[in-house]
Amino acid sequence: MAQRTRTLESARLARVPAYLFADLDRRTEELQRRGVDVISLAVGDPDLPTPEHVVQALHQAAEDPATHRYPPYAGTAGFRAAVAAWYARRFGVRLDPQAQVLALIGSKEGLAHLPWALLDPWDVALVPDPGYPVYRVATLLADGVPHDVRLRPEAGFLPDLSEVPTDVARRAKLLFLNYPNNPTAATADAGFFEEVVRFAREFGIVVVHDNSYSEIAYDGYRPPSFLQAPGALEVAVEFHSLSKTYCMTGWRLGWVCGNADVVGALAKLKTNLDSGAFVAVQRAGEAALRGPEEPVRERVRAFQARRDLVVDALQAAGWKLARPRATFYLWVEVPDGFDSVRFAQHVLDRAAVVVTPGVGYGSVGDRYVRLSFTTAEPRLREAVDRLRRLR
Ligand code: PMP
Repeated sequence: MAQRTRTLESARLARVPAYLFADLDRRTEELQRRGVDVISLAVGDPDLPTPEHVVQALHQAAEDPATHRYPPYAGTAGFRAAVAAWYARRFGVRLDPQAQVLALIGSKEGLAHLPWALLDPWDVALVPDPGYPVYRVATLLADGVPHDVRLRPEAGFLPDLSEVPTDVARRAKLLFLNYPNNPTAATADAGFFEEVVRFAREFGIVVVHDNSYSEIAYDGYRPPSFLQAPGALEVAVEFHSLSKTYCMTGWRLGWVCGNADVVGALAKLKTNLDSGAFVAVQRAGEAALRGPEEPVRERVRAFQARRDLVVDALQAAGWKLARPRATFYLWVEVPDGFDSVRFAQHVLDRAAVVVTPGVGYGSVGDRYVRLSFTTAEPRLREAVDRLRRLR
């Protein structure tokens, strides 16, 4: 019988770009093997614990056998109602918990599946460059075509939508946005969101706003919801998560809310893919959203103190970076003569500190590295001392 030569990976998977930082990982492991004390500022994963009352709620819920069974597909009624109540309280946005809120196994899960629900082959998705890589990869996996929308420093890392060619805008079905932003830490105001609603209406585009960092904000700044913009519910959904607000990255609970047709399409897809988040985790999520706000404020104060520690020290040492109003990231310009990977290698080799090369978020990111301050203070201080002495 004739043998067919087949590659293991599907063409769809092969389209996903190769992992860029294998070399950096290898160097890190090698240093660690040699006994070097490497400090990673590369991942945005809070070291601070989940608030105690949320942990208690999980304990209690796990004791109840009713939580041991399959969850309702769209999320528990209690969790969805808590999301709607939180949106009303925090943003003044009224949502129907049945039709306009869907629980997710973390926001990444929903963001990654949404293009499957909405894109046909060759449909365009407008993705920010730099941006959270899932928007682009999920588009590719759904046979869609990502079109980069550049975020430039001189525009405060907001996209200029008039740069999108009209024929591309006509073919576009999705526009991904994320403010407060990973990786640039940029923020957007209500005026910008109104402009986006106008653009989305003109071209019939669904806006996907990722608001994962809305509560990680400093100096009294309160980031808005996209859904506050007039007309937003006609064109947009917003993704959100308990991961950052309540330091719950490991729990895997998030949601999408907004336009009922889009929420419904993702719900239909997910019914066929997964069976939802553990009910006990959803009950704990309810306790988080309905519970006291002080534990969140306490965590944000800790992040703000760390932000100031790192920004003050690095600025004094001549590094080029802004003091962000939100997120736990610093977007730092690399010195002349370096690209982002070479600079990250230099920092690793000379200071034993791991930072993320900006090119991992898109080509515009190649002039930057991302530092996160989700590391406890003594280690963070040590990392900063090493960086300060670097040049
Ligand atoms: N969106 C952005 C912009 C993120 O940075 C992250 C996590 N790094 C996520 C979504 C995913 O978060 P989760 O799945 O934990 O809700």
